[in-house]
Amino acid sequence: MSRTIVVGAGVAGLTAGRDLAEAGHEVLVLEATDRPGGKLRSGEVAGVRVDVGAEAMLNRRPEGIALAGDLDLPLTYPTSATSRVWTRDALRALPRTLMGAPLDLDDLARTGILSAEGLDRARHQIVPQVDGDVSVGDLVGQRYGAEVVDRLVEPLLGGVYAGQARRISTRAAVPQLLDLLTREQVDVPPPVADAPPVFASVPGGMWRLTDALAADLQRRDGVEVRYDATVTAVRRTASGFVVTTPTGEETCDRLVLATPAAPSARLLAELAPAAATELEQVAAASVAVVTFAFHSDDPGVAEALDTGASGFLVPPVDGRRVKASTFSFAKWDWVRDAGEGLLVLRTSLGRFGEEDTLQVPDEALVAASLADLETATGLTAAPVDAVVQRWGGGLPQLWVGHVDRVARIRAAVAQVPGLAVCGAAYDGVGIPATIGSARRAVTDLVV
Ligand SMILES: Cc1cc2nc3c(=O)[nH]c(=O)nc-3n(C[C@H](O)[C@H](O)[C@H](O)COP(=O)(O)OP(=O)(O)OC[C@H]3O[C@@H](n4cnc5c(N)ncnc54)[C@H](O)[C@@H]3O)c2cc1C
Repeated sequence: MSRTIVVGAGVAGLTAGRDLAEAGHEVLVLEATDRPGGKLRSGEVAGVRVDVGAEAMLNRRPEGIALAGDLDLPLTYPTSATSRVWTRDALRALPRTLMGAPLDLDDLARTGILSAEGLDRARHQIVPQVDGDVSVGDLVGQRYGAEVVDRLVEPLLGGVYAGQARRISTRAAVPQLLDLLTREQVDVPPPVADAPPVFASVPGGMWRLTDALAADLQRRDGVEVRYDATVTAVRRTASGFVVTTPTGEETCDRLVLATPAAPSARLLAELAPAAATELEQVAAASVAVVTFAFHSDDPGVAEALDTGASGFLVPPVDGRRVKASTFSFAKWDWVRDAGEGLLVLRTSLGRFGEEDTLQVPDEALVAASLADLETATGLTAAPVDAVVQRWGGGLPQLWVGHVDRVARIRAAVAQVPGLAVCGAAYDGVGIPATIGSARRAVTDLVV
C-alpha cells in the first residue's frame, strides 16, 4: 500500500487526506497546531461558539457544498439582511456589483457612495484595452474611474483578500470581469428573483466542516491525523521522502504540502528550489477578527444594530480602522438563536501593507473596533464580551501574474515524482477553490 504524508490539516490538507484514503492510500496528516481546520476555527464569545475565521463558503461553486454533503452536514444560508458600505460618513446600501464593478449605474447613483464627479466619470465609460493580466483596480478604474475603485472595489476585495485592488490579479481573483468589462456594452443579466443563495455555511459554524473532515479521517483504517507535529524539513530518498518533525522522522512514498506559501517555500527549498523561489514571492496579508457579544436589551443596542443590515464594508480611502463588520446575528439565523438575547457581531482589521494597524495589544483592537462601530451606527453600549483572533499572514495575495506563477510552481513540483502542493496560495483563497486545489493535487499524485 502506498503511504502518503500530508502536511497541514486545514481544509486543503484534510480534503487531500480524505481523497487519498478513498484512493486506497495509507495516510498520515501532520499538523503543527493542536487542532484541525487552519483558518476554519471556532471561538467562544459570552459562551456562544461561533466562527473566528472563515464564516461562509460560496454556494455557487460545487466543491464546498459537495464536500459538506459527503460528510452528511446540513447547510444553512444567510438571511435576507444586506450589507452596507460605510463611506462618505454614512452607511449606504451596497449596489449590485461584480466584486465592486457596478452592474447598474442608476442603482449605484441612488446609494450616494460616489461623489457627483465620481458618478459622472463612471457614466462616461471607457472600454479598457487589456493585454494579458491586469489588476482588478486598473481594469475597473479604466472603465469607470478611480472613485469606483476606491469606494467599491477596494472594500469588496478587501473583505475577501485584505489586499489592494490595484495589485490583485483579475485573472486569478475575478476572471469573469475581463470578459465583462472589455466589451463595448457591459451585458448584465437582470437579477433573478429565486436565484440560489450566493453563500452557504453549516449550522453552528463553518469550522464544523473541517471538524467533520478530521473525524471522518480518524475513523478510517490506515489513516492518522497527528497534531502538534510541525514539519521542519523534507528530503528525498531513493524510494520516496523523509519528513522531519520535532519527535522524529517519518517516511512515505508520496508527499502533499498543504501549507501556506511561506512554510511551503521553506520546506521546498532543497526539494524543488524553483517552486520555493516562486512561493516566496506570494505575499500574505495579516488580519484580525474581533468578535463581540452585546445584550440586545441594553439601551440603544437594538436601535443601532438590529436594522436589517448584515454589516458593512469600509473603503480604505475613508481612513477608518476597521475594514469590515459582519453582524453575524443578523446574517445567520443560527447565530441569533444560539445567542439567546445576545447580539454577536465581528469586526475585521488589517489589510496588506497596513500591518501597523495590528501591532497593538488586543485591547486596542477592541477599542478601535468599538470606536468605529459607535461612529458608524451610534452604538454606545459596552459589550458583554469580546474575543480577538489574529491571523498573521492569513490571506495570500493573488497579485497580477499569479496564474502564471502557479503554473511555474506546479511545473517545478511535477519534476519531483510523488510530490504535490495545494492550499489557498494557488487557485484562490475561498474554501471551494482551496478544496479544488486539494482535489487537483491528489489527481496529479494518483494518476
Ligand atoms: C479571517 C479570515 C476569514 C476568512 N473568511 C472566509 C470566508 O468566509 N469564506 C471563504 O471561502 N474563505 C475565507 N477565508 C479564506 C479561507 O478560510 C482560507 O483560504 C482557507 O481556509 C485556507 O485553507 P488551507 O488549507 O489552504 O490553509 P490553512 O487553513 O492555513 O491550513 C494550513 C494548515 O497547515 C498548518 N501548518 C503550517 N505549517 C506547517 C508545518 N510546517 N507543519 C505542519 N503543519 C503546518 C497550519 O497550522 C494550518 O492548520 C478566510 C480567511 C481568513 C484568514
